[in-house]
Amino acid sequence: QVKKAGRNSYQFYCSKQKDQSFRRLELETQLRKAISRDEFELYYQPKLELTTGKIVGAEALIRWNHPEKGLVSPGEFISIAEESGLIIPLGEWVLRTACMQLRTWQEKGIAPFEVSVNLSVRQLYQPNLVERVRMILEETRLDPKYLELEITESMMADSDHCLKVLNELKSLGVKISLDDFGTGFSSLHYLKEAPIDTLKIDQSFVRHCTVDGNDATIVKTVIAMAHQLNLEVIAEGVETKEQLIFLQRQLCNVAQGFLFSRPLPVKVFIEQFDEMEKVVSIHGLPVGIQN
Ligand code: C2E
Ligand code: MG
Ligand code: MG
Ligand code: MG
Repeated sequence: QVKKAGRNSYQFYCSKQKDQSFRRLELETQLRKAISRDEFELYYQPKLELTTGKIVGAEALIRWNHPEKGLVSPGEFISIAEESGLIIPLGEWVLRTACMQLRTWQEKGIAPFEVSVNLSVRQLYQPNLVERVRMILEETRLDPKYLELEITESMMADSDHCLKVLNELKSLGVKISLDDFGTGFSSLHYLKEAPIDTLKIDQSFVRHCTVDGNDATIVKTVIAMAHQLNLEVIAEGVETKEQLIFLQRQLCNVAQGFLFSRPLPVKVFIEQFDEMEKVVSIHGLPVGIQN
């Protein structure tokens, strides 16, 4: 009896593993075709300036319109794209599409704001990354100051190489933002050395900052430190008006989260623009009250 159960669970485990690696392989094959089949789409989530309530930026977040599965979120395929190297062409597609989109908005007079694009660590090891970014800026005729590249702390683990690439990117005139701040390999040394413009406080700290004393302290301290270091600071994952007010009181510059808007397809983003700009004045402290 026991033996049988044991064998069954062993088989179950095996086939489950097989299933998983098969699924990955299948996803990788489909991912490979997805670029040429035009199955990717960028969604945009606004970043709001807390003193004015205005949209000052938008983060481009990739979505995959899978022919059978429907909308697939990046959590399900970015790691596969990274491991397979597909992140290189995919990352380039994201950069070009986001820059083109912002140019289109600028031409329509919609956007005096910047667009942020997430970079994968693998891209920092792409030998010609800086050259490719330069070319995309040139092709799309986007002023580099409107492009922000979001990197994560783990990217600074190999400090020498990454610092060099970041400095080269920075010299193109783009901005660099440190995403998910506080969750990864973090060293204040790199914060001092790396050409960082913006600290992005991770949503895991923002989520409970109005109910958990430790999270409140972390958020306050990161904001204060960012200001002292002359960095911009943005809070991600803002979902409640209490969080918004907390952040305003701490003089956080910018916020992003479902309270203002979920990431949206281009067309909806533009339609919702005015509504999104009302959120801070509706739910937050009166705009213009802080400095
Ligand atoms: P991220 O860069 O930290 O992006 C923020 C994530 O938090 C997004 O998830 C966004 O939809 C979600 N989010 C925003 N506001 C809220 C909120 O108020 N509450 C909650 N619960 N979530 C919120 P998404 O779009 O699923 O992206 C997940 C991650 O995938 C991103 O994290 C980023 O690391 C990666 N990613 C997305 N697009 C790209 C891309 O084009 N290239 C690369 N390399 N990575 C990407
Ligand atoms: Mg990001
Ligand atoms: Mg983030
Ligand atoms: Mg995050």
